[in-house]
Amino acid sequence: MDAVASPFSTISPLDGSPLDPVEETPLDAVAAIVAKARAAQVAWGQRPLSERIEALWPLKDRILDRGPEMARLLRKECGKPEGETWTAEVMPDADLVDYWVDKIEELLAPEEVPLDSLTYPGKTGKLVSVPRGVLALITPWNFPVAIPLRTIIPALLAGDAIVFKPSEYSPRSGAFVARLLEGLVPEGVFTLVQGGGAQGRALVDAAPDLVVFTGSVATGKKIALAAAANLVPVSLELGGKDAAIVLADADLERTARGIVWGAFTNAGQNCAAIERVYVERKIADKFTQRVVELTKALRVGEDVSPLTTPAQLAIVERHLAAAREAGAKILVGGERTGQGLGFQPTVLEVSGAAEKSPIILDETFGPVLPIVIVEGPDDAIARANDSRYGLTGSIWSKDVERAEKLAMRLRTGVATVNNHAFTAALAAAPWTGVGESGFGVTNSKHALKEFTRPRFILVDRSRAKSELWWMPYTESLLKTAQALAILRSGSQGIVAKLKAVWQLITNAPKRLAGK
Ligand code: NAD
Repeated sequence: MDAVASPFSTISPLDGSPLDPVEETPLDAVAAIVAKARAAQVAWGQRPLSERIEALWPLKDRILDRGPEMARLLRKECGKPEGETWTAEVMPDADLVDYWVDKIEELLAPEEVPLDSLTYPGKTGKLVSVPRGVLALITPWNFPVAIPLRTIIPALLAGDAIVFKPSEYSPRSGAFVARLLEGLVPEGVFTLVQGGGAQGRALVDAAPDLVVFTGSVATGKKIALAAAANLVPVSLELGGKDAAIVLADADLERTARGIVWGAFTNAGQNCAAIERVYVERKIADKFTQRVVELTKALRVGEDVSPLTTPAQLAIVERHLAAAREAGAKILVGGERTGQGLGFQPTVLEVSGAAEKSPIILDETFGPVLPIVIVEGPDDAIARANDSRYGLTGSIWSKDVERAEKLAMRLRTGVATVNNHAFTAALAAAPWTGVGESGFGVTNSKHALKEFTRPRFILVDRSRAKSELWWMPYTESLLKTAQALAILRSGSQGIVAKLKAVWQLITNAPKRLAGK
């Protein structure tokens, strides 16, 4: 393989040690892979659901049993602390299998569609969920196993085929996902494509039945445009700039710890990382002081991973430089660690012009926590909602009822009280965004709507020779339709309704005989 042309990461963000080489999927092979998936999907989608459940059930134990391997791999390839992989990947990934295997029959069960028997005699309607078809799954590097599995498990159970392209910064974790599925589904039903943006683009251009994308806003827009050329629908889970609002009556210790975790887990490389804190003036000093203490106590490399990509490190430094220039005050951190792509967990106080800088306006995706002092809850909500993103947000207060009411005012897909971000791990809870955070839905029955299409089946057992609305358009059609309209109307009196019944009795039989 030509190392210069390779799109893949080649050294560990932890310490610069070399990573295993990865085989790139040739660009001109992508369309044929999608065609093969399309052929394989037909038989897979027609298998009884019980067989698909049986096929995928072993995945749960594979995930749990290979947890140590996953933790080591993600540490080396992405820099993640092993503890984080166990809590944010291994355990919730296994829970996904449990949830979907338990729920899928109920969620895919056909529904009867009630029909008015006077207007539609002899007819029954049924709504069934059919597989969407072939899904192109394009994912980022920050949760390189959990994010793909949140689509793979329900979509395979629903009868879809998947062509999966992991990030060029986590191709080895992508290959790990493929190994988890090895032998569980027929050839072609799940295929791994390795490469960078070019392979992702080729996959979208191959006109799958749905593109499921998690990644940056910029790439999400490119994918939406490319997919539109073939009228391929897209599901987009994009970036975030999550706000945490700390009210004056918050439990100081829990709130400070929760916010430090929310900001620095995975070195802030989390779409739902806390990237803005709005704290009420009354508690601001004490809160900030405790956050700074806790941040100082974090062990760089152990609690806080390095950044995974050099591009991320550059964004963090650019945002911080602009914030400093605009008057923001760094309270702790602010420098590289000197180890791999490490950056110190950083807390800064932001006000005035710095609030108009990228540290507040754009996704930083790094270990940086800006704190802004506000005058009260309304001020906090207004500032939190003044963002082009809207993924998740949180309110911290001992008065949980008041906090829940405020949480309802957040312009986000997920809103939490006294906690943040962890709900991505809950298979039953929808994960979704507002604005430029995208409109895809991950997890829960709402995600399944993306991986299936509704199909309406109507069966007509009527023995009538004709229908109300068939030709010829005779007098009996008019009279029957007018009578039905009067019978439906809420404003017509009893006399008009009785007349309508008579009109129906005398005209409907002629109509149904085609006269
Ligand atoms: P990215 O957009 O750079 O890349 C994501 C994927 O898209 C990669 O696999 C990449 O190869 C592929 N890609 C790049 N260009 C493409 C193109 N033109 N056509 C098709 N595919 C293309 O994102 P990233 O840096 O890997 O991930 C970080 C971003 O992901 C952050 O913005 C983060 O907020 C977001 N994210 C969102 C969620 C969520 O649930 N909303 C979860 C995790 C990450």
